[in-house]
Amino acid sequence: MKRPLFVANWKMNHTIGETIAYLTVLLHEAKAVGNTDVVLAPPFTALSSLGIALSENNSEFQLAGQNLCWEDSGAFTGEISGAFLAEVGCRYVIIGHSERRKIFGETDAMIGKKIEASIRHHLTPILCVGETLPEREAGKAWDTVENQLRGALREIPLAKLKGFVVAYEPVWAIGTGKNATPAEAKDMHGLIHQWIASVHGGEVADITRLLYGGSVTPGNSRELLRQPHIDGALVGGASLDARKFTEIIRSVP
Ligand code: PEP
Repeated sequence: MKRPLFVANWKMNHTIGETIAYLTVLLHEAKAVGNTDVVLAPPFTALSSLGIALSENNSEFQLAGQNLCWEDSGAFTGEISGAFLAEVGCRYVIIGHSERRKIFGETDAMIGKKIEASIRHHLTPILCVGETLPEREAGKAWDTVENQLRGALREIPLAKLKGFVVAYEPVWAIGTGKNATPAEAKDMHGLIHQWIASVHGGEVADITRLLYGGSVTPGNSRELLRQPHIDGALVGGASLDARKFTEIIRSVP
């Protein structure tokens, strides 16, 4: 297994005050999580305060943006650029989350440009991919995921990146309480690994961390993390509670 990575995607939850209170609990609960990368993705408004609190506490936990604009600055009302994320201490950025694709109409082409922007600003992209339930039921789960990978990554020289992360998040499992079975997750992660190896080379595939996301809880994380090519988790709902998130981090086999 590669160095495990756990990302807390809080979505549009937690004020600055709640963020700082959460960090107090997390620092206490997850003091010695060992050889593991822990990344927190709060709302944009809490990034700066959280970054300051992390450095005041000499914490190795890292910050992520939940999204970014593909442009670096200018007339893009409501957007946040990679430069701004880097300025507040982000090392990672989530790109192409299914909520962004579905609710905000993000396309693979936009997602590809966002990945390029993240690279310009030395942010490690966490690319989210995953099929809907009708796509899975029609036997098209891999076709969908492959199209998303191809659409976003084909032009990107992944070999130049020190780290790149893909999160497989079946849309039907996000926030529904219905996670993919370990076997379903294992199969898809194996295919993603193979695809990266065939398009970008085996060395890139061997250092690209693949996360599972979709209703991960302390109750199911151990079994999921035991599967080959599952190097960690992208956690939504359960990451809002620092104790539950810590339990998930600790379930690395
Ligand atoms: C997510 O939002 O990326 C996610 C996986 O959410 P949840 O854990 O709530 O399913």
